[in-house]
Amino acid sequence: MDKKILIVEDEIAIVDILKFNLERDGYHVISAYDGEEGVRLAKEENPDLILLDVMLPKMDGFEVCKYVRSRMNTPIIMLTAREEEVDKVLGLELGADDYVTKPFSMRELLARVKANIRRRVLDNTVETDTEEEGVLRFGDLVINTNSMGVTKNKKPVELTPREFELIKFLATQPNKVFSREELMEKVWNFEFYGDLRTVDVTVRRLREKIEDNPAEPVYILTRRGAGYLFQNA
Ligand code: CA
Repeated sequence: MDKKILIVEDEIAIVDILKFNLERDGYHVISAYDGEEGVRLAKEENPDLILLDVMLPKMDGFEVCKYVRSRMNTPIIMLTAREEEVDKVLGLELGADDYVTKPFSMRELLARVKANIRRRVLDNTVETDTEEEGVLRFGDLVINTNSMGVTKNKKPVELTPREFELIKFLATQPNKVFSREELMEKVWNFEFYGDLRTVDVTVRRLREKIEDNPAEPVYILTRRGAGYLFQNA
């Protein structure tokens, strides 16, 4: 079945060119021209991915992102127009998975769309019963690096692509401390360092999902002044 993409963007020309290119690549595209409509369509249509502009009428992209992320696991790529917006996307606790800066290259955007959708598809096919290469087991927590799925007490844990990349990175090198700068570079692939709070926020969200008590984590530990590590006791 065609993957469904929701575009939330008030500039009609941008929506048209995105729609044209995405449809040519075989996606089913729906669009909203303001934030409220975007939220409504996200809920009703359950898209496979959302392309979300920042500056929108009625409800801005930051609010839409927060709202959607608090209820759904849909990958979100933010379309940002200015450097300040990039800073905000990275720094705030929004839960966006990726961003592109306008004016963007269509080729780059299509590649990001494809990558984010692929991760999500893999997220939904967790295998836990077979002992195989690439499956990391830490007590009740199982990380399948092949299918990119995580289970806790045999129940799937809904992670965003970035959360998965982070836990995979840490868990494949257990008991080793990584600084926030290193994680930013290795997991977020930033050649320059973005806002390091992004790392803290993602760690916090991961703990809420995988730890019995996020305030006293046993998997992802903080080494004050040094960074984070995945503990394999
Ligand atoms: Ca706009």
